[in-house]
Amino acid sequence: MAEPVLEVHDLHVTFTTEGGLVPAVDGIDFAVAPGETLAIVGESGSGKSVSSAAVMGLLPSNAEVTGEVLLDGRELIGLPGDELRKIRGNDIAMVFQDALSALNPYYSVGWQVAEAYRLHHDVSKKKAHQRAIEMLDKVGIPDAVRRADSYPHEFSGGMRQRVVIAMALVNDPRVLIADEPTTALDVTVQAQIMRLLDDVQAEFGTALVLISHDLGVVAEVADDVLVMYAGRAAERGTVRDIFFRAAHPYALGLLGAMPRVDVPPKPRLTTIPGTPPTPGSITTGCPFQPRCAYTHLVGERCITERPELTPRPGEGDHEAACHLGRRPEVLL
Ligand code: SF4
Repeated sequence: MAEPVLEVHDLHVTFTTEGGLVPAVDGIDFAVAPGETLAIVGESGSGKSVSSAAVMGLLPSNAEVTGEVLLDGRELIGLPGDELRKIRGNDIAMVFQDALSALNPYYSVGWQVAEAYRLHHDVSKKKAHQRAIEMLDKVGIPDAVRRADSYPHEFSGGMRQRVVIAMALVNDPRVLIADEPTTALDVTVQAQIMRLLDDVQAEFGTALVLISHDLGVVAEVADDVLVMYAGRAAERGTVRDIFFRAAHPYALGLLGAMPRVDVPPKPRLTTIPGTPPTPGSITTGCPFQPRCAYTHLVGERCITERPELTPRPGEGDHEAACHLGRRPEVLL
């Protein structure tokens, strides 16, 4: 990998609640380089969105964050709020799933994109407005000069998401975090938005962290993949490692549930039985153990010893956190 722009080391996030301490992220590491895409994959509750919110410094005050979040080598954890605000939206920007709530219904989209620019640049309103139109045009809003004066409700869901992407990219961020950016959209629009993210990434050299539960989207755009389960890393590797050499039973389960055209068809798609554990409920052993179909191949260790990420022999940086130590014999 080229020199990473964003590095996260041993990130822990714990929430203090009335019921006690709730660990949501339990020691994850990842890195992403300019122009590359890292996908963080997992079911809801896996800690993927909490991790990205921790990187952005957007967690509520009852969250304790430890570890390292380095942007170009500069530590972000513990930075004063005003320093963080200078970085957020400028060096690191975020696109959320729900474009409607990211936009203010009372202001035109052009005004909102221009304000996002003025927040970090000392320029006139006129210049910021020109920049907004340029960005709206770049993300594929037709007739951007005229449409800049329209309000969010006058756009379709896909067009609103384009506006949000324009707003996120208006300051040329080094890193863009996209949290389920296409989930609320229909399939054709999803493909258009992912293509747009791909294009702008190529043009601006932005590092993209894509949070997704949709492996189809991940297969198309990611360079590297981190699979999260119960706040921990279950597996990580290149997109080929995960899609062709997955070793963790959870990653295999996710892949088995996904229709594929690149492997021989199966009589039916598989599902992972059960539901993810509530955060903090499994304190010993493997967090996936209650749902795992391979525990019998390992035995007691699955219940007593927490598996750590371990390199897969002969597979470069591919790592899986499973005591099995080999790929289970399953048909993907
Ligand atoms: Fe399954 Fe055991 Fe591997 Fe966990 S460590 S995924 S329970 S085989």
